Amino acid sequence: MKFNKLTTVTFALFLLGASASAQKKDSFVREKAAIDYINKSFSVYDNLQKSIWGYHELGFLEEKSSALLQKHLEENGFTVEKGVAGEPTGFIATFGSGSPVIGILAEFDALSGLSQDTVPYRKAIEEGGNGHGCGHQLLGTGAVAGAVAISKWLKATGTKGTVQLFGTPAEEGGGGKVFFAQDGLFNATDAVLDWHPGGRNAVSAHATLARLSTTYHFTGKASHAAGGPDKGRSALDGVEALDYMANLIREHIPMSSRIHYVITNGGGLSPNVVPAEAEVSYYVRAKNIEELLDLADRVDNAARGAALGTDTEVTIKRLAGAIYPVLPNKSFSLLIQKNLERVGGIEWNVEELAFAKGIAKESGIKEEDLENVKTVVPYTEKDFGGLSYGSSDVGDVSWNVPVGSFNAAAFIPGAPGHSWQNVAVGGTTIGTKGALTAAKVFALTAIDLFTVPALLKGIRTDFDASRGKDFKYQPIVPGKPELDYRVKK
Ligand SMILES: [Zn+2]
Ligand SMILES: [Zn+2]
Repeated sequence: MKFNKLTTVTFALFLLGASASAQKKDSFVREKAAIDYINKSFSVYDNLQKSIWGYHELGFLEEKSSALLQKHLEENGFTVEKGVAGEPTGFIATFGSGSPVIGILAEFDALSGLSQDTVPYRKAIEEGGNGHGCGHQLLGTGAVAGAVAISKWLKATGTKGTVQLFGTPAEEGGGGKVFFAQDGLFNATDAVLDWHPGGRNAVSAHATLARLSTTYHFTGKASHAAGGPDKGRSALDGVEALDYMANLIREHIPMSSRIHYVITNGGGLSPNVVPAEAEVSYYVRAKNIEELLDLADRVDNAARGAALGTDTEVTIKRLAGAIYPVLPNKSFSLLIQKNLERVGGIEWNVEELAFAKGIAKESGIKEEDLENVKTVVPYTEKDFGGLSYGSSDVGDVSWNVPVGSFNAAAFIPGAPGHSWQNVAVGGTTIGTKGALTAAKVFALTAIDLFTVPALLKGIRTDFDASRGKDFKYQPIVPGKPELDYRVKK
């Protein structure tokens, strides 16, 4: 009997007793060593995530956060390769031997300007300080907990196979994973698991936008703005002319594309000096690489036109770390959905619920929306392959090896991304519960992949079909990581 790819996976799921909705109380008999470990280690991972929350280190500067996760992995028998891909805080931790090799992605960078205490209202610990507004302390901790749980299971059952934990720095704008991909660090991995803290428990079966970052540095001539204006050429004029043209271009781009910019060097401090230097930093985003590069070229041309028209000079620098759109994988999504449903939703205790209600009240979120964390969002066919307008360096991983992604509820449903609300709640046990839900889904999914070869085969078939037979990965902008992109100059 010959199965097509979907039938192979469906059949394999059937063998696993995958009618998840029928399993109200799951006893996790086969996965006992992994799930028991996670259940008894709540305080270990609660401390770990709260420590990283407290470090709130920015991209490529995550020294303490990375070291803490590495130490924990080493203490649990993992071999850690440090400073990979030219990133001092990047690492790969490995446990076990032989095939299959299952990877898990971990992030741990924070965001600037989002300092926030663990209280249900806006209160910075340090005005303008950093905060974990994207929950990457949970992302990293949940991933590590999952990897360690899988190692316990591999050991307890004597199963052949390898689990790899990829410690990937600087997701927020630094493109840490791109350089892992550029160095071929995913080449020996069969499948990679990934999660992100969210306001719900759901598989992420959507694509994201590709993204490219460019800086435009304009140079003019300084002079007295009143006494000798004819001798001056304003670099700020160059920036303004570019921004004006970019805003005209905006009308004539595909619906899914995006252009945004910040002026990183505003061209002086005093109006009576014609600014000689000014700089603007752009992101362009698009649903595929072709549209991305076309848009980037159009903005580059606008910059050249702006320099010509203002008699200034422009230096154009495309930053390495530009990212691919995420390539979703249907078979992987179905497998993760089954395991999300086995793990089930999250129950908050009285204090956690009161804290969540406080945030909801403060943020105009309906209290009944908080119920969403108790359930798993059902998978529907139409959800597959949709588009999310953000970008992630998981994209580059997903063109090198099949990636399966999901959300677990670690934030308040309906709270905005990159917000004080996410920092506040992420630093409590609400965040830890989300991270350990993710850890369980990692463990169950990896164990399925270790024990049912047809699953990995189905995932690989989907991957080959959607990536295309002749695809050869190349980073969009080859180069070295911009290790100081978050260092204030
Ligand atoms: Zn983010
Ligand atoms: Zn994030």
